[in-house]
Amino acid sequence: MRRKLAAGNWKMNGERSTLGMLEALARAHSGGAVDIMICPPFTLIDAAAALSDAALITIGGQDCHSESAGAHTGDISADMLRAAGAGAVILGHSERRADHGETSDDVRAKARAAHEAGLIAIICVGESLAEREAQNTLDIIGGQLSSSVPDTATGENTVIAYEPCWAIGTGLTPTTDQIGEVHDFIRTRIERRFGAGVGRSVRLLYGGSVKGANAAEIFAVSNVDGALVGGASLSVDDFSPIISALE
Ligand code: PGA
Repeated sequence: MRRKLAAGNWKMNGERSTLGMLEALARAHSGGAVDIMICPPFTLIDAAAALSDAALITIGGQDCHSESAGAHTGDISADMLRAAGAGAVILGHSERRADHGETSDDVRAKARAAHEAGLIAIICVGESLAEREAQNTLDIIGGQLSSSVPDTATGENTVIAYEPCWAIGTGLTPTTDQIGEVHDFIRTRIERRFGAGVGRSVRLLYGGSVKGANAAEIFAVSNVDGALVGGASLSVDDFSPIISALE
């Protein structure tokens, strides 16, 4: 059985006071029925980790370098994230791919570094609107998967997030049929590459305009094991109903 996961991606948002929501979330969801993850900006990770009971809420980064140390101004290694108290890292988000030119090969190297550091890698894939309209969605996702997911992936250390670029921060979401088609495709691909044991244990998240109002419908889709949530992860009022929809 795959444990459900609600992961919040704060992106370049949040301040020290926002961390107060960690305690409120832990209180509201103390039953531990769902894994909860919060990925704040780098500067808040150690404070977030100190505040959160790691058994209830895992703290994650939003990127890491593929090397463990060296002359890479502005970068952070997976080991550094781990030392700051993180247990996970989001990799290959479409905003990183667009803003920083990250390729799937880069993402695979980062994910391998995350695994070596003992972090869960949340590897993001997703098509653009033009790619969907050209009916290339599954080709694009298939290519991203084979290049972005390293051979070190297991059900424990890897989560795959399907995030159509056109659904991120737009209020638009694919139909549940479209989500199901992509998630079933990802499951089949991962099973074929890693075997049924690993293939069935890797969790698949949907991301892109998830909110309390659409969460239950999305979570009812086959092979959706939770969500990667941006805007609606920045307050308890918005994030808690999404977690509840998984409980
Ligand atoms: P959104 O972002 O929930 O604000 O659409 C999701 C994401 O980018 O992970």
